[in-house]
Amino acid sequence: MSKLYETEHPVKACGWAATDTSGVFAPFNFSRRATGERDVQFKVLYCGVCHSDLHMAKNEWGITQYPIVPGHEIVGEVTDVGSKVEKFKVGDKVGVGCLVGSCRQCDQCTDDLENYCPKGITTYSAPYSDGTITYGGYSDLMVVDEHFAIVWPENFPLDLGAPLLCAGITTYSPMRYFGLDKPGLHIGVVGLGGLGHVAVKFAKAFGTKVTVISTSLSKKEEAIEKLGADEFLISSDTVQMEAAANTLDGIIDTVAAAHPLQPLTSLLKPHGKHILLGVPDKPLELHASPMIMGRRTISGSMIGGIKETQEMIDFAAKHNILPDVELIPIDYVNTAMERLMKSDVKYRFVIDIAKSLKAE
Ligand SMILES: [Zn+2]
Ligand SMILES: [Zn+2]
Repeated sequence: MSKLYETEHPVKACGWAATDTSGVFAPFNFSRRATGERDVQFKVLYCGVCHSDLHMAKNEWGITQYPIVPGHEIVGEVTDVGSKVEKFKVGDKVGVGCLVGSCRQCDQCTDDLENYCPKGITTYSAPYSDGTITYGGYSDLMVVDEHFAIVWPENFPLDLGAPLLCAGITTYSPMRYFGLDKPGLHIGVVGLGGLGHVAVKFAKAFGTKVTVISTSLSKKEEAIEKLGADEFLISSDTVQMEAAANTLDGIIDTVAAAHPLQPLTSLLKPHGKHILLGVPDKPLELHASPMIMGRRTISGSMIGGIKETQEMIDFAAKHNILPDVELIPIDYVNTAMERLMKSDVKYRFVIDIAKSLKAE
């Protein structure tokens, strides 16, 4: 490839990129497009480190375009706006999540479900409408169509709030769509990581009773004392699991590794809903009986539309829902990825871009 990343566009930018399947990051100079009439340009302040960044950096889903600059939990400050921009002015705080483009005219787009648009454009490593490849938030500045930019609530923490732009909407959207957001319902959250810990916080804010289901007893105290879960189940403890059968209205299943569904689905009451958010690399085994015997549903969900992402951020600001984060400098990102592989983080790394990313 003879493309010159530094001169593709007129605006100089720098970030950290992985250039091959080793997934090792190093400083990378590239460029951003000039601010179009509906674009906002912003200085990146903070960017969360999502598990997808790790999968994509190593091309584990087979769709990565190198060099890859990941990051889709981005908050920043607006530095330039196009002539037709309505939502932002220079100096405003802005958020960008997993999407920077979609067709804007299909049924999904007209229903504010850009996340299900077949032509959706992800924030990094995807072909953009101008033929270039998108680069994400591990970078000093970004330019996005204002439609895909989220208005950041006033006085809402930028560093702690950043992970809501992926982890937050990924858990909020299914709870809303599947009606699992009603006070008095009993919700199970499977897996207590970046997604799971935010799911617990939203579920509590909705007024539901929450049971965390985990493989590891070590998370019990944290789940109950710190995150406010009501109950805790060890998924390998069959006695405990059987005693809890038929008690849940819904399950938010955040586990990305292959795992047996039957013991979890059996926790649902009749008509209960088991929502999958993780994508294991192997097909999951599914027994039909829990669905047939109790008309239970197994479904999935992927992030959320832009309108709903705005609604989620506003809800989080109103209820003071903030992920638990470990703030890191950009040159810690390779170590952070190694720790992420071992789930050694409570519960999200956030890169302090403004303070630590310097042009080389
Ligand atoms: Zn993500
Ligand atoms: Zn569309």
